[in-house]
Amino acid sequence: MSAATNDPFPTPSFAARAAGARLEPYRIERRPPGRNDVAIRIRYCGICHSDLHQLRDEWGGAIFPMVAGHEIVGTVTETGAGVQRFQPGDTVGVGCMVDSCRTCASCRTGFEQFCENGSTLTYNARDRQGNITYGGYSGAIVVDEAFVLRVTHANEQLAGAAPLLCAGITTYSPLRHWNVGKGSKVGVAGLGGLGHMAIQLAHAMGAEVTLFTRSADKAAEAGRLGAAAVVVTGDAAAMAAQQRRLDFVLDTISAPHDVNAYLSLLRRDGTLVLVGAPNQPLPVAAFPLILGRRALAGSLIGGIAETQEMLDFCAARGITSQVETIRIQDVNEALERLARSDVKYRFVIDMRSLETAGEPA
Ligand code: NAP
Ligand code: ZN
Ligand code: ZN
Repeated sequence: MSAATNDPFPTPSFAARAAGARLEPYRIERRPPGRNDVAIRIRYCGICHSDLHQLRDEWGGAIFPMVAGHEIVGTVTETGAGVQRFQPGDTVGVGCMVDSCRTCASCRTGFEQFCENGSTLTYNARDRQGNITYGGYSGAIVVDEAFVLRVTHANEQLAGAAPLLCAGITTYSPLRHWNVGKGSKVGVAGLGGLGHMAIQLAHAMGAEVTLFTRSADKAAEAGRLGAAAVVVTGDAAAMAAQQRRLDFVLDTISAPHDVNAYLSLLRRDGTLVLVGAPNQPLPVAAFPLILGRRALAGSLIGGIAETQEMLDFCAARGITSQVETIRIQDVNEALERLARSDVKYRFVIDMRSLETAGEPA
């Protein structure tokens, strides 16, 4: 461990003060590292579509000012006396959760994301002491070591590793749970941050991947990520040719859409898993389900041990997110572009830019 101070430390960040407001410089206080805490200087933070949903309060219940960001990679600067697994200088990651009850049946079996007493989300939440949590669009974060991940990607890969902490685990977990492997025929709906990780991960697991996208201009690149075929969803004949072909579909679409069109792609007993989280209900027709005993399911990020497994899987294979690295000063324009699906395929903020971002007004 290193010398610990007992005072909260002021930390620069960018926050939205109200739903839909521009993000501006904001000063937060991080707690002094407690016995089991790791203090982390944040180097990179990805911009997930969930940040956009929450910054615009599309899911309801948002807490402002909000410091978003849950795809965090950084360097350990300080550790509490009880910390066993980390030391200053280590490269680490933090994803969507920073705590959970640790005693319920879900927590005890590695499903902290389904904590029956509610896991503590990295931002836009209250921690177990009642304090508001602030995420990765900031210079530093303090997290209990039980929720800190080890990142072993090479230094030049760290910007691309940050999105693994949400986009990576959110796609890895359902692919594993539904036993995708060699010979599986997998469909991925939507080519954004989650979609481009799903293609790479399913391909690495041995699946034959078909991408479904609205965007003909993304088609060429899907092959490079590992897709065997691309279907532009506006092409009715191409969609019809895919009926009853797939074992599994991972739906990453962020907006309301016709889920029945994707159910019809499944063979008998196939499963469609929603990971996208539109803020409106998705009407489901009976026939695409009953004709073929198909299943519709959902999945939420992944547990901590599984997140480490995913990071190690990716590091061993050199898998990263394809990123566009930006300065924090450009975060508002990046969020606008993300809303238009105009990013290939993940914005990542280089947090060194905070040093020149100016003081809070
Ligand atoms: P993203 O980068 O914006 O990608 C979403 C993709 O969905 C877009 O690139 C676009 O793909 C497609 N899309 C967008 N609007 C559409 C529309 N109106 N109709 C059809 N397709 C549309 O977002 P992301 O960061 O990957 O996140 C995707 C969703 O997953 C979000 O709702 C997010 O909140 C959710 N999420 C869930 C979890 C979880 O644990 N379940 C975790 C993280 C994120 P094309 O241009 O290729 O059509
Ligand atoms: Zn996310
Ligand atoms: Zn629990």
